[in-house]
Amino acid sequence: MKKLSVVIPVYNEEENLLPLYEELKEVLKNLPMEHEIILVDDGSGDRSWEIIKDLAGRDPAVKGIRFRRNFGQTPAMVAGFDEATGDVVVTMDADRQNDPRDIPKLLKKMEEGYDIVSGWRKDRKDPFLTRKLPSMIANKLISWVTGLHLHDYGCTLKAYKTEVVKNIDLYGQMHRFIPAVASMYGVDVAEIVVNHRPRVAGKSKYGLSRTFKVILDLISLKFLMSYSTRPLHIFGGLGLLSFSLGMLSGLYLTYIKYVHKKPIGNRPLLSLTVLLILAGVQLIVLGLLGELLTRTYYESSRKKIYSVKEKIP
Ligand code: UDP
Ligand code: MG
Repeated sequence: MKKLSVVIPVYNEEENLLPLYEELKEVLKNLPMEHEIILVDDGSGDRSWEIIKDLAGRDPAVKGIRFRRNFGQTPAMVAGFDEATGDVVVTMDADRQNDPRDIPKLLKKMEEGYDIVSGWRKDRKDPFLTRKLPSMIANKLISWVTGLHLHDYGCTLKAYKTEVVKNIDLYGQMHRFIPAVASMYGVDVAEIVVNHRPRVAGKSKYGLSRTFKVILDLISLKFLMSYSTRPLHIFGGLGLLSFSLGMLSGLYLTYIKYVHKKPIGNRPLLSLTVLLILAGVQLIVLGLLGELLTRTYYESSRKKIYSVKEKIP
């Protein structure tokens, strides 16, 4: 490992930036590698940017990026990834809730051969009802849906091989899903317990509504992870099922009408038959459209449908 990039999203954290920098620098200067600190100001309305500018003026290892407006934590982190020049990227919050002294531990675990090491705030210092409980449920749900079992998806303190974060597309509030998305490409993920501290200055930027956004992001993630290269399998599958059921009940009705010579115009089953057949056809067509879109998507973005770990020679 030659160089470490620390990426920190900053949104109205003027009181935290200086103490954060001091504490972080103390740790970084004792590491046996070069480092850079990338502070991404996500459209702060306070003095955060002045402080970042000042730090960058004093310390050549500090880089600042300033957004024109508040885009959110995920875009802020992605901007940092784009700028990173190290071999490893560590992300952390600017609010000093993460402890920089955990960074050497993350790096040590990484040297065992992992591509991502995720922090686990085992003893989390946040309110129970609005934070810890929703997060517990969300972690269980995300682990179950994505198949990657982590205790703490929401912890920003994580270490990544740079090529992992540079090759991932993130939308919405998806920064927390990086390990899950990456595991889809087959990277190795480890988890270690990290320290967590209460927020002493500034305010938290999120409320309970985040839980719902996380769940919606999870649904779109699951779909992309499982079916983005074969949409016809999910839509077409459902469509075939619906179409077959419709055909069956249609045949049954035909039998009633022509063999038993009973009228079928007043039977609810007739409406159901029509509905099932129409829905079936539509779902199959939707799946085919999806296939078309997928091809356009992969070909226009030149994204690979696979990911290679090594090549020889
Ligand atoms: N943050 C950001 N943009 C936003 C919201 C938050 O860059 O729109 C940053 C914030 O400054 C902090 C980190 O993301 O460094 C996590 O935010 P916060 O501490 O409010 O989240 P919590 O720890 O309460 O989950
Ligand atoms: Mg926080």
